[in-house]
Amino acid sequence: MKDITPYNIERFIELIGMAEKPVIVTHAKPDGDAVGSTSAMLHFLMKTCGKAEAKVVLNDDCPRYLTFIKDAIPAESLITRDGNIEKAKETIDSSDLIICLDFNAFHRTGGLEASLSESKARKILIDHHLDPDRSIYDLSFSKNDISSACELLFWILMATPQIAGNAENLPAESATALLTGMTTDTNNFGNSVYPSTLNMASELLRIGVDRDFILQKINQEHSESRLRLKGFVLKELMKVTKDGVAYIVLDRKAQFGYKMQEGDTEGFVNEPLSIGKVRMSIFAREDAGEVRISIRSKKGTSANRCAKLFFNGGGHENAAGGKLYMPIEEVGEYIAKHTHIYMTEYED
Ligand code: 5GP
Ligand code: MN
Repeated sequence: MKDITPYNIERFIELIGMAEKPVIVTHAKPDGDAVGSTSAMLHFLMKTCGKAEAKVVLNDDCPRYLTFIKDAIPAESLITRDGNIEKAKETIDSSDLIICLDFNAFHRTGGLEASLSESKARKILIDHHLDPDRSIYDLSFSKNDISSACELLFWILMATPQIAGNAENLPAESATALLTGMTTDTNNFGNSVYPSTLNMASELLRIGVDRDFILQKINQEHSESRLRLKGFVLKELMKVTKDGVAYIVLDRKAQFGYKMQEGDTEGFVNEPLSIGKVRMSIFAREDAGEVRISIRSKKGTSANRCAKLFFNGGGHENAAGGKLYMPIEEVGEYIAKHTHIYMTEYED
């Protein structure tokens, strides 16, 4: 893999070796790949490299279905910005090595952007998004044709002298967290699967990672109201346009009505792609002061380009996101109008 060279691995281990207070950060509203890669890195730093002072700073708490990964992080090593902004800032300000996982620009961390930009600490990037700004990092591992940040981190760790190509040398918590993040980012091997992805899964199963346990945690421990919300969203809210675009706009009222919790709508955006004529699916959710947008597309249609052009965002070719700043009542019309322009003028 392009960035996983002997030189970069040596530098990776050297930067970790020199650090007394390494800090790991990931994107806001962390998903399975974000929390999985973060936890895997932390356990490698603490258990394999002896960095007892290593910390994780999360901008937001993680969804309930990922609690089993979060709970494996020692309480004293985890700082969540929500409710503890000062501690989060202080931790980043006093750090001498910042490891950035699963995002390509500081603004994707939400409220941590200023602290990260001002920090004089050395910085390492490990990410699978398009176009990272490599100049702000002392060392960057960036790859787009890979399933997830968890997979990229897996192959980096495998290349270190400590793990020496044998997954049995990984801390058990890292191994479980890595398989979890890869599983959620690929929708359980439904997209972005490469030969290397299956090799990784094979190695992790060989060393005894319990995939059934992971699947149970991420798929089978949701609330009843979440499934009822999904039924309501698909039956009452989903619209399909003549341009082959499906969209859903979920306002605050319905979120309260169904007692929605963070992470409950994860995966809803994928459902409309099961319709043959739908090329792109957009899920819009009213949030504090903004409308959060998730976009998924089928091969041949670019969610990334549409997100960049009309939704103040970006992402991967077939999975992107962004934000809108307008009253929720206007969002449906905005999406219908702009996806019409997009599908007729920008796509063949
Ligand atoms: P999701 O729909 O799961 O929230 O996000 C899918 C992908 O879109 C993420 O992996 C990320 O790459 C990208 N993404 C989501 N929200 C934003 C955003 O606000 N800005 C940018 N640039 N990318 C985003
Ligand atoms: Mn990811």
